[in-house]
Amino acid sequence: MDAQRPPVAAAACAAPACAADTIVIIGAGQAGGWAAHTLRQEGWAGRIVLLGDEPHPPHERPPLSKAVLAGTAAPESTALFKPEAFAALNLDWRPGVRAQRIDRAARQVLLQDGSAIGYHRLILCTGGRARPLPVPVDAAVQVHLLRTIGDALALAPRLQPGRQLVVIGGGWVGLEVAATARSRGMAVTVVEAQGRLCERTVPRDVSEHLLALHQAQGTQVLLGAVVERVEAGAGAAVVHLADGRTLQADTVVAGIGLLPNDELAREAGLDCDGGVLVDDTCRTSDPHILAAGDVAVSFNPWAGRRLRLESWQNAQEQGMAAARSALGRLVSYQPLPWFWSDQYGMNLQIHGMPLPTHQAVLRGTPGSGSFLVCYLNGAVIEAALGPNAAKDLRFARRLIEQRKPIDPARLADPAIPMSRL
Ligand SMILES: Cc1cc2nc3c(=O)[nH]c(=O)nc-3n(C[C@H](O)[C@H](O)[C@H](O)COP(=O)(O)OP(=O)(O)OC[C@H]3O[C@@H](n4cnc5c(N)ncnc54)[C@H](O)[C@@H]3O)c2cc1C
Repeated sequence: MDAQRPPVAAAACAAPACAADTIVIIGAGQAGGWAAHTLRQEGWAGRIVLLGDEPHPPHERPPLSKAVLAGTAAPESTALFKPEAFAALNLDWRPGVRAQRIDRAARQVLLQDGSAIGYHRLILCTGGRARPLPVPVDAAVQVHLLRTIGDALALAPRLQPGRQLVVIGGGWVGLEVAATARSRGMAVTVVEAQGRLCERTVPRDVSEHLLALHQAQGTQVLLGAVVERVEAGAGAAVVHLADGRTLQADTVVAGIGLLPNDELAREAGLDCDGGVLVDDTCRTSDPHILAAGDVAVSFNPWAGRRLRLESWQNAQEQGMAAARSALGRLVSYQPLPWFWSDQYGMNLQIHGMPLPTHQAVLRGTPGSGSFLVCYLNGAVIEAALGPNAAKDLRFARRLIEQRKPIDPARLADPAIPMSRL
């Protein structure tokens, strides 16, 4: 909740190199872009320095495993803002520039070229990077990762009909790459070390739905399969599994999670635990430094624990919240998580955090391709998910937010419209 207050007074800046009129944002991705936009919207007339080590203006990543990878959308279409709107923000945007170090005592950010930028407030939106495959890989083989526009553009031409793709990792990015490649006529094998797909983020019945979906499209899915090494082979590569099986591949992609870019924060002595720790005002352990997006770890009341939310929703909303907080507005950012994935025309959405302690109530028939699972704590829905059920999920989200007690039998009856619940 924000209260209308004027921006932080410039005179509050006392550190030696601090620039009272400057807010620095490190990371020009989705969170960084929205933070910059919000600072202007909230009336910050001072300098905004946006440092981004990528050459692109702030953009969204979801299309990189979908339309951009499929070649049906241009990379430029992922930009957060139209060029004129971006220019109108009047930012000191530094593309291709990496922040090297934060000097908290002097309140300045040091760049690779040795220069320094003083700040009044600093917002860390450094996101994360794709986790590299932690097994021996022959130097002649390229194992593709997918995080950036550059990664998508390098992988897209490899998705050729009739060729063999091995995707290592049956999480969201891996499954979306598999779906895109399969739709382009590749022979696809997904190798997942755990016993089910997306094990970390969805309950078992949803993993099974995803498995059935991919198998029905002709994708081979190997569960409980551990990759031991990748060697050069007759195609481009041979993927060796721990159980002795081998997979021939023209292209290999690893989608095995994200490493938070929290090194700058750790080196600066900020509290970190698998990412930069922030409170519900997006402040780190240094009140002059805030963090948002994939790099930020905060307590989420819906999950009942601290976590990083790696999602489009969180990057945008926490980026905005951090900007407001930097200006001294009252902020309490405790989002009800929302995540979606698109695979083979199926749109799966997850609202809230399904927990093992929840009672799952099914609404609809899984075989129909569109159904809802609501997760109840007593009579209250705390999470809901489902494929191709966007309309019902909007109502479910409202019920979650209102914490309204519900009769599970009525919830399970698709003859009763969600709007009547
Ligand atoms: C392929 C893909 C598909 C996805 N699909 C979905 C989806 O369908 N639904 C969904 O909800 N979410 C999806 N996500 C997740 C979502 O895109 C991310 O959660 C979001 O992009 C995070 O935004 P961010 O700004 O925190 O990080 P990023 O977008 O990673 O931005 C961080 C930026 O900071 C830069 N940086 C880091 N360190 C420095 C430094 N020292 N100096 C300067 N710059 C630095 C990085 O290079 C990067 O440009 C997807 C992600 C990927 C990769």
